[in-house]
Amino acid sequence: MTTILRGGTVVTRLRPAEVIEADLVVDGDRVAAVGGAAETAIAVGASVIDCRGCLVIPGNVCAHTHAYSALARGMPYRLAPPRDFVEILRRVWWRLDGALDEASIRASARVAAMEALLAGTTTLIDHHASPAAVDGSLDILAEELARLGVRSILAYETSDRDGPAAARDGLAENERFLGWVAAERPVLTRGLVGAHASFSLSDDTLAACVDLARSSGRGLHLHVAEDGIDGVESRATHGLSVVRRLERAGALEPAPVLAHGVHLGRDEAAVVRASGATLVHNPRSNMNNAVGRAPLALFGSRVALGTDGIGADMFEESRVGHLRHLEERHEVVEVFEADVVAARGDQDDAGSIEAAWPLARLAAGADLVADTFDEPLLGRLELGAPADLVVLDYPAPTAVTAATLAAHWTFGLSARSVRDVLVAGRVVVRDRRLTAADQEAIAAEARPIASRLWDRLDALPEHEFDPRGVVAR
Ligand SMILES: [Zn+2]
Repeated sequence: MTTILRGGTVVTRLRPAEVIEADLVVDGDRVAAVGGAAETAIAVGASVIDCRGCLVIPGNVCAHTHAYSALARGMPYRLAPPRDFVEILRRVWWRLDGALDEASIRASARVAAMEALLAGTTTLIDHHASPAAVDGSLDILAEELARLGVRSILAYETSDRDGPAAARDGLAENERFLGWVAAERPVLTRGLVGAHASFSLSDDTLAACVDLARSSGRGLHLHVAEDGIDGVESRATHGLSVVRRLERAGALEPAPVLAHGVHLGRDEAAVVRASGATLVHNPRSNMNNAVGRAPLALFGSRVALGTDGIGADMFEESRVGHLRHLEERHEVVEVFEADVVAARGDQDDAGSIEAAWPLARLAAGADLVADTFDEPLLGRLELGAPADLVVLDYPAPTAVTAATLAAHWTFGLSARSVRDVLVAGRVVVRDRRLTAADQEAIAAEARPIASRLWDRLDALPEHEFDPRGVVAR
């Protein structure tokens, strides 16, 4: 199957930005030509997508999300309002994930996949939890995401919060799924070793996660210092900062995906930087939970963006992240000046205040996907690259060039412009419609399932696990 994207303005890469006027030929799952060969391909009967007046960009990557929260919007809440991050987990998220069953996991995955593609996000790096339906849960996600055409990197959230047997079940799900991925090599799916966060992982469970990461060659994907409690608990229980605890356990190798890092200090950030880990910044989630602002200047270039479950609109996430980062720039630079300078050895610096910040962060997410899929050209639109791309219907009122792309990104573009989407060469959105399913039907089918999910979660009490008890002893 050959598809030609004709007459568009093509963003061939985000970091550094490159913009050309060209036809793109997609053959099979890859970019087969940029400019030039389009006429020949048309002659042999390729399908043509008219991209005149459009921007063609690499597909966006959401580097940390929770598809299981797709049906959370508007859910009932009758407990006392949460006063801090731990109470948000105990009273909200650990009740929602505890209520998930197979049908609601499937419906959540379909809604998450639909919303990602329609927003121009072609890859989701997901972190899944469903303690009452662990076994096979990653298969459901993989199946539904791939069915609609989303590329994904999946992991199950291993945790001791429901006891050691549940922790073993979570780890077993990761192991089973990674085994399936290694054997089948599905086109759109890979895995990581999922773990919740240091404060809900015993030494034994963490060691077992590290063993699986070593044997599978896949790094951990876990939350790190999202709130101050992670470091406080680690020092009280293990006598070490979170990152030093992870380092001692061997959890930084293979290079992990670390979500948040809001409460990491200079020493810990230096260890993260040296490990080759990707830090995933989730600005809207951090604001929503009031956990603080991540010291991005300390982490060098390997800082990607995630939504932490607040949809998958990376135009929105990158815009909010950029604006918030600009607002705090003076404070950050003063406090961490020495380390900012240390981090500048990288090709770009997540602490920079340059206009290209959103583009560099999204490129870092694509780099992570490229590494995981062993597809070095993923995230670019050049000969031989996997054809994950988005056509934006964007009547630009000023010129779009390599020099101006970042300004268009922050002040002009949005998910509203997404018209067509290809993932691995397959057209998955055409003229704002999913090609593999009816989007109104996905939403309509989700509603009764969400209603039953809400009834179950409404009957659940506040979760009992509380790391603050350990700290107080
Ligand atoms: Zn998260």
